Amino acid sequence: MIALSRPENVAGDFYVDTTCIDCDLCRQIAPETFSRAGDQSAVHSQPQNPEGEFAALKALVTCPTASIGDLGRHPARRAVEAYPELIDDEVYFCGFAAESSYGASSYLIVRPEGNVLVDSPRYTRPLAKRIAALGGVSRMFLTHQDDVADHKTWAGRFQAERIMHRDDIGRSHAGIENILSAFDPVRLDHDLTVIPTPGHTRGHMVLLYRDRYLFAGDHLRWSDSIQSLHASRDVCWYSWTEQIRSMERLLDYDFEWVLPGHGRRAHRTAGEMRQHLRDCITRMKSIDDSGLTIDD
Ligand code: SF4
Repeated sequence: MIALSRPENVAGDFYVDTTCIDCDLCRQIAPETFSRAGDQSAVHSQPQNPEGEFAALKALVTCPTASIGDLGRHPARRAVEAYPELIDDEVYFCGFAAESSYGASSYLIVRPEGNVLVDSPRYTRPLAKRIAALGGVSRMFLTHQDDVADHKTWAGRFQAERIMHRDDIGRSHAGIENILSAFDPVRLDHDLTVIPTPGHTRGHMVLLYRDRYLFAGDHLRWSDSIQSLHASRDVCWYSWTEQIRSMERLLDYDFEWVLPGHGRRAHRTAGEMRQHLRDCITRMKSIDDSGLTIDD
């Protein structure tokens, strides 16, 4: 809303208002336009060309709080139709973040055995239509209790089986079809492994696809500021000690991509990822209960 436009925005068509919840998504999608100013985003440079405008519009449709405005009223249809957006091979970013999951990223895996939606985007008809065209959703993997957003609507739309850990089930998760209770890894299929990772929450889990893509929820993310993998003590709601143990168990697996709920993605070789994971564990062990903040 223009009346709430932040004074930190540079003049022009695009702006961020004071309802921004600092989820970081616009800065990931259109870094040429959006950056952090204080503890919220702002427009530091107006788009200079059609590509920049398209990226800013993708940020606008993804923003979980509708905090991005466009005085030029550029047509957003192409940006709406950009999602799900291919990241690599058959892995897509869904855009359309939900405020109830604090702007968490969600992903779609398109596979012949049935597509998997990892965590939940905001439910919108255009996105549902595009996902239907890609084969729909057979399973929804819910990493933990915070990032479930519109899971009921998505599951109902596609008759999808939702998978979640028992220890994160609350009132808003009634009807979850597949509730896991063990803390051992579970093979969902030949290419899908569920790895329980208690720490951020008690029932947090990550999903490994094809020993290549790690859907990490809020367990692990990439930090641009330290150029390495990072876990945040500040948002560890259950147990830091358990989160370190869960991180150590991940050393048993190969993966080349880290695709988090919050924070930056990363793509490195499996060997580089393992070294970054070791470094992350070393840093985690050096952090006491007073915590340490590392920005994206
Ligand atoms: S996407 Fe929206 S809520 Fe998230 S940082 Fe940008 S303006 Fe703020």
